[in-house]
Order: sequence, then C-alpha cells, then structure tokens
Amino acid sequence: MSKQVRVRFAPSPTGPLHIGGVRTALFNYLFAKKNGGTFYLRIEDTDQNRFVPGAEAYIMEALEWLGIAPDETIGKNEKFGPYRQSERKHMYKEYADQLINSDWAYYAFDTPEALDAQRKADEEQGKTFIYNHTNREKLDTSLVLTADETAARIAKGDAYVVRFKTPVDETLHLKDIIRGDVKFETSLLDDKVLFKSDGMPTYHLANIIDDHLMETSHVIRGEEWLPSMPLHVLLYRAFGWEAPEFAHLPLILKPVGNGKLSKRDGDKLGFPVFPLEWNTTEGVSSGYREKGFFPGAVVNFLALLGWNDGTEKEIYSLEELVAAFDLNRVHKAGAKFDPEKNKWFNHQYLITQEDEDLAKAYSPILSDKNIDATKFDLVKIVSLIKERAHFVSEFWEMSDFFFQAPTEYDAKASKNWKEETPALMKQLIEIVETIEDFTSINIETVVKEWMTTNEIGMGKVMQPFRLSLVGALKGPHLFDIIEVIGKPETISRIKKAIAKL
Ligand code: GLU
Repeated sequence: MSKQVRVRFAPSPTGPLHIGGVRTALFNYLFAKKNGGTFYLRIEDTDQNRFVPGAEAYIMEALEWLGIAPDETIGKNEKFGPYRQSERKHMYKEYADQLINSDWAYYAFDTPEALDAQRKADEEQGKTFIYNHTNREKLDTSLVLTADETAARIAKGDAYVVRFKTPVDETLHLKDIIRGDVKFETSLLDDKVLFKSDGMPTYHLANIIDDHLMETSHVIRGEEWLPSMPLHVLLYRAFGWEAPEFAHLPLILKPVGNGKLSKRDGDKLGFPVFPLEWNTTEGVSSGYREKGFFPGAVVNFLALLGWNDGTEKEIYSLEELVAAFDLNRVHKAGAKFDPEKNKWFNHQYLITQEDEDLAKAYSPILSDKNIDATKFDLVKIVSLIKERAHFVSEFWEMSDFFFQAPTEYDAKASKNWKEETPALMKQLIEIVETIEDFTSINIETVVKEWMTTNEIGMGKVMQPFRLSLVGALKGPHLFDIIEVIGKPETISRIKKAIAKL
C-alpha cells in the first residue's frame, strides 16, 4: 500500500454504541494496525436533535475497555483536530459556498409545507416525490432565480438549504474493497441537503470535508452507508479532491429470522448488544462488560462476524488478529449473530486465564456471600471448576460446596439414597478415617480398593458420596473435592447426610 493508511471510526453520539458499531471500529483498528497506519475517532454530532448526553464518553470508554482505543481523538494527539464536528462548525460554510459557486450545488427555499404539498400532489398522481433533476427547476430554488434575486432572499432572512446538484444520466462505476465493482445511476439519486441556513452542515457534507481534511485513506463502515457512496464520491469530484477507498462491511444479522440485529433481539434472547451497560430513566440495557465477558473474547467473536483468515482457526489474540486481518477477506453477505458462540468464546478465554487471576476475580463474589476467601485455597478451587465455566459469575453455583456443607439435597438425586446406603456410608467413614496421605489420587485408590475387595458397585457408593458432600450430582472429580475440603469436613458431611436423608 503506497499511501499512508489513516482510517476513522465516526459514530454519531445518539446513544450507547451498538455491537455493529463496535465491529466497525474494530475492523478499522485492525486495518490500521495491520498497515502501520493510524486509527482515529471522530464524533459526528452535527445533528443536535439526536444528541444524547453521555454517549460520547460511553463510546470512548467502550473502545478503551476493548483494547482498541484510537491513536487520535478528542484530547489525544489532536493533530487534525477538533475531532468533534460541532467544534468544526465554522469550517463547513465556505465549502458549501464553494459548491454553489462552482454550480455543484444550489439554494432551495422550499418551506416544509410547500414540500409536503408537492409530495401529496405527486402521490395523487401515483408518483413518489424525490427532489432531483426532474423537478429542481420547478421548485423554489436558486436555479430559477438570478444571482441578485437569490442574494436578496438570503439577505431578507428566508430559510434555505443547500442541495447537491447531482449530475444527470451518468453511470458511476465505483470500487468497494469488499463488494468489488458497484454501479449507480446518478439520475436515480436525489439532491441531498448538504447545508442549512442555521449554519449546520448535514452528515454528508461534514463527513466528506472531514475525511478529506483529516487525510482519511480508507472509509470502512457499515453496509447501511453503501447507498451514500455515489453522493460521497461525487462530492469528492465536485471539490476536486481524491476520494478515499471504500469498504462497506456486511450487516450483523439476527440470531433467528431475517434482518439486522437489534436491541430487541438481545432482550428477547437474553444477551447484550452493547459493550457496556447503559442506564437511562427508561431502564438498563445490559453490556458485555457487566455480563462478565472478557474484552478479548468480545473482540475475538466480533472479528469473526464477517471475516475469517481462510483457515479453521477461531481463537485469536488481538495481536494475532492484527497480523491475520485482511479487508479483502471480509464477506459480502450478512453475518448471523450467535449468542451461544459468544459464550463459547468467553469460555475459551476463561480457561486460558491464570488461576491466580481468576481467583482474584472470584474473591469479591465470595465476600458478597460473607465468605472469608483467605481461609480457602481459591487458586486450587478455581483450577478445578474453570473447565466448565463460561463466566466467573458462574463460579459460585459451580463451587459453593467447597466453602459450605450442603444445607439441602437435590430431590431427584436423593432417590439414589437407598435402604442400604447409610450402612455403606458408615463403612466409608471408617475407610476415610484411616487415610493418612489425604491427596485426591490416594483417597481414590483407597476407596476404590475397598469397593473392589468387598464387591460393592461403584454407583452404590459414589452417587450417595457425592450427594453427601455436594448436595447434588454436580461438580468436578469427587476425590479432588475431598482433598480440598479435607478429612474432618468430609466425614462430618457424610454423617450429616446419614442423619438427614
Ligand atoms: N456518523 C455516521 C454514523 O453514525 C458515520 C458513517 C460513516 O462512517 O461515514 O455511522
């Protein structure tokens, strides 16, 4: 790649960042790092009606948490600042003027009422109203006024918008890195509003100017922006600027059914669609962080939504993703979101964590249960249970019996507690009492020897034994549990079970 790679994530701060936006940020990040380039974050807040307080801070915090923070943004290496469009407001008008002067744009004075009336009139004739070359000279535009007349109306304070004068009858053959050649007929496009008399640019104008001024080499964004591509390319042409390259990422689809993944799908199926929890007066939207996902796992599963490196490999560190990432290998088709697979990724990350770190993460949960974690070999306990866990938050459910004797016994499992069981359990206590070397492997050898010598069936002992210690037929290898809880506790739990069952 010859030119310096500079890519951007340009969200509008209209609420918490949807997971699709996070994936866009991630692909920009990976592409930048892969090519020794720069990843910057620009906040597109020109639409003040949709501005949501806290959303900007949320976006920054989410990217930090995921480990994909931008190289440049508000307050960080502001080489091409400001990075917030509302603070660049003063820059846009001269560009709108430039387009007017070069006949690439025109003033439109139509009031909302006039446009509504026109829309209705068209509908009555079975037509859909579209503001473009077919009617721009019949509407209230500077195209049918003299320069003096236009100036007079502006001076008088008539509200106006500046619209792009889309060329007529041209087939645009554009290149998208992911989609290959894409064709657009300019005559089918509408003359989009670029600027308003309140001094604010629209998304289209501000986006192009900023991408140019901030030296963006590649525009990598969601598929929903593909229809804007012809306008954007034409705007570059109108300004006489070289256009960046474009790549439109596939949509993230619902787990079941068709269409784009929405917050409602998450609510229905019980998974987050936001990286961090988002609180409003209307309620709480859950976040991956608060649900106990590892940021690396979130990054990993998002990377594989619409991309793979052509091998079967699924588990990647961020560094490995950077090394393997290739925009040319991003798929065109939408990527189905699979919440179960996400959990699987988290499990894969969990089992590779150091036991010490997992023990640390588990400690606060135990404190909440008023358990003095220092009295237990937490590192060992965690090592025994983690193979089956998806989240640290599941640890308690999987290991409560290490910390406390069962207070009740699973009803279904208790059916295995037969008439002869108490006598067997009493014999078992005697055997356990004799064991000096209280290690899992030795306890297992001794107990099994006793069973074989006396021809006692495994099931007859092992299920009631587990029930006595755990309260249910769950948990890791029983002899590992016994080693951790120790001899006196093991015996006391068997006695308690004999008394209670
Ligand atoms: N502000 C737009 C958004 O909210 C940016 C689209 C683009 O990347 O051009 O997604």
